[in-house]
Amino acid sequence: MLDFNHRPKVADRVNAAVDAALVTENAAQPRREYLGGSRLGHPCERALQFEFAGAPKDEGAGFTGQTLRIFAIGHALEDLAIRWLRAAGFDLYTRRGNYPDGEQFGFSIARGRIRGHVDGIIAAGPEPMKLGVPALWECKTMNARNWRETVAKGVTISKPVYAAQVALYQAYMEPAVPGISENPALFTAINKDTAELHHECVAFDAGLAQRMSDRAVRILQATDAGELLPRIAREPDFHECRLCPWAQRCWRLAA
Ligand code: SF4
Repeated sequence: MLDFNHRPKVADRVNAAVDAALVTENAAQPRREYLGGSRLGHPCERALQFEFAGAPKDEGAGFTGQTLRIFAIGHALEDLAIRWLRAAGFDLYTRRGNYPDGEQFGFSIARGRIRGHVDGIIAAGPEPMKLGVPALWECKTMNARNWRETVAKGVTISKPVYAAQVALYQAYMEPAVPGISENPALFTAINKDTAELHHECVAFDAGLAQRMSDRAVRILQATDAGELLPRIAREPDFHECRLCPWAQRCWRLAA
């Protein structure tokens, strides 16, 4: 009997080549040697410490080609959202001077050891929206389930990591963009499955910004002192640990 279903199929071979190229490209990127403001809302301080210190991820726990494609698609969709908002009349700045090769807006504190890059700053909204400006703009892409949850509950409840990022960025951008923390940020979520858009205003939460800033200091100080911050859980089957790329390293340690 003839069998034309040769294995591996062409799709498998092409995808393997694409994935290998993306993983190689990613591995060639210089390691980020600062604590990213967008990550500080992560539930586990020890995981943040591993990330900041550049601890090698567990065998097989690095980004796959598929994950890297998901990130890249997210960036491309954010670029589209910028275009859509500008077309709707938002005066939205994403880079200094708004030049394509201009430096992205952001902050750098603690001698460059804590940094963040903002998606945009709204200088004016379309009439008659009467947005308070300047306002921080943050954009995330989500699958349909996460997007619906964000629409239903709001970003602060459904995605506390993003809410922490918004609060911290509003606080740290205030010296460069006076007034940005007095106005609610505009948070945009793109549904990757349906192209639906969600937007909500997020008032500045000074307490949350302070807690995230304190957290950053705690991570820097513990790392400088060679101390390991506590685990988030007592058992390795905790859901956060099961997803953690440093789980084996973490649970091999005595405490
Ligand atoms: S395995 Fe769990 S406790 Fe350890 S760093 Fe990861 S998330 Fe934190």
